[in-house]
Amino acid sequence: MDYPGNLFVVSAPSGAGKSSLVNALMELDSHVQPSVSHTTRAPRGQEKHGREYYFVSQPEFDAMIASNAFVEWAQVHGNCYGTSRRAIEERMAQGADVVLEIDFQGALQIKQVFANAVLVFILPPSWEELRSRLERRGEDTEDVIEKRLTNAAQEMAQACKFDFVIINEVFERALFDLKSIVHAQRLKYAAQRCSRSDTFASLGIC
Ligand code: 5GP
Repeated sequence: MDYPGNLFVVSAPSGAGKSSLVNALMELDSHVQPSVSHTTRAPRGQEKHGREYYFVSQPEFDAMIASNAFVEWAQVHGNCYGTSRRAIEERMAQGADVVLEIDFQGALQIKQVFANAVLVFILPPSWEELRSRLERRGEDTEDVIEKRLTNAAQEMAQACKFDFVIINEVFERALFDLKSIVHAQRLKYAAQRCSRSDTFASLGIC
């Protein structure tokens, strides 16, 4: 189905800087809105229900799968995560650009449903830098870091299925790249025809 708003999907291995980039984009551009996912994992630190995630039990999550409430869902690091169909369709129908920060399995499912979705993969500049970012975060034990690095190899092997790749070496440059992707998408003929329908009508083009 076509909506006036665009759908951007951003995936990356843990430590590549995905959340920082998406948050910076949303601060600069209020037209880009997040979608709050549902998850069965427990809240961490200051996370609040309805802000970072909707934290639900496994039976609640299963009931949502059964009622076709998710446009995509996947198991990531042993927990279930899903994007609610209603939340993104409502926003896109209102003309907002929606950004999903989800794993590669979910991203590929989204592309099946929304062929126009723009899939962006964020890569770290090197293995050394990815490891040192995970270590600097100080959130994980050495075992967990090793597991994240093993998972990262599998995740990065999926980057070839995405529309765009950003290498997050210098944050400002990577943010510029992300903004450019969003901007280019808004300049596509179909998007311009929708957002500038008055101009198109006055010029007599359809
Ligand atoms: P975290 O638990 O660290 O917040 O997220 C773990 C992973 O799950 C991240 O890669 C994140 O992008 C992914 N994730 C978050 N929400 C969703 C979702 O709705 N669907 C899918 N497929 N992955 C998600």
